[in-house]
Amino acid sequence: MPESTDKTCDDLARALVIMAHPDDAEFTCAGTVAKWTRAGRQVHYIVCTSGDKGTKDPDLTPHHLAAIREEEQLAAAQMLGVETITFLRHKDGELEATKEFRAEIAMLIRRFKPDVVVTHDPWRPYQLHPDHRAVGITVCDAIVAARDHLFLPGQTSIGLEAVEPCELYLWGAAEPDHLEDISETIEQKLEALSKHASQLRRPNWRERIRQWAIDTGAPHGMAYAEAFKRISFRR
Ligand SMILES: [Zn+2]
Repeated sequence: MPESTDKTCDDLARALVIMAHPDDAEFTCAGTVAKWTRAGRQVHYIVCTSGDKGTKDPDLTPHHLAAIREEEQLAAAQMLGVETITFLRHKDGELEATKEFRAEIAMLIRRFKPDVVVTHDPWRPYQLHPDHRAVGITVCDAIVAARDHLFLPGQTSIGLEAVEPCELYLWGAAEPDHLEDISETIEQKLEALSKHASQLRRPNWRERIRQWAIDTGAPHGMAYAEAFKRISFRR
C-alpha cells in the first residue's frame, strides 16, 4: 500500500524544495524555509543546474562559475537550516521537460518522501526563463509519476516505493492563494540571499526584496510575507 494513504499531513514535517538555479529558492521562499526549520521541520534542497551561464563577466568560465554558485548555495542553505542539498548539475539554460528528467525528479521524491514539495509555478504567464518553466512542469509531472507504483516500476523494484506528498507550493504564481507570514524570518532571508554575492548586481537589492515582502503581506495584515499557489493532495 502506498505510504501516502497512511499520512495524517498534520505537521508537514519534511519539505523538498526543487529549484532550477542556485538562489531561486532564496529569492522566493527563504523566509518560509527559515520558518519551517525553526519549527523543527526538515527541509531538503534539489538544485537542478549550477547556474553556469548566469554571468556577464567575460573572464568567468562555466566551470568556475558553477563552483562559485554551488559554494554560495551551500552557505545560503546553511544559514536557513536546510538539511541536505542535492546538485543535479544539468546544463544551465538547457533544461527540458523530458521523460528522463521527470523520472529523475520522481526518484528523488520517492527517496526523500516529502510531505510538502515547493517549486516554480510553470504556468506563470510571460515567464521567460526556460529552466524555470521546465523545472516547474517536470516537478508537477513527477509528483504524478511518484505516487502510483505502476509508474516507474524499475524504481519500485529497487525499493523506491510510491509516495504522495500532502501539498505542493508553487512560487512566482500569477494567482497565489496561500501566504506565509515571514515577519520573524525576513532578516534571515536577507542574510541567506547575501550569500549569493555573484548574483546580487543591484546595490539596493535588500530594499527591493524587503519591499516585495511588505507589498505581499500588506493586504493581509502581515508585515512581511511570501506568496504561493497551494495545491493540496490531502484526502
Ligand atoms: Zn532561476
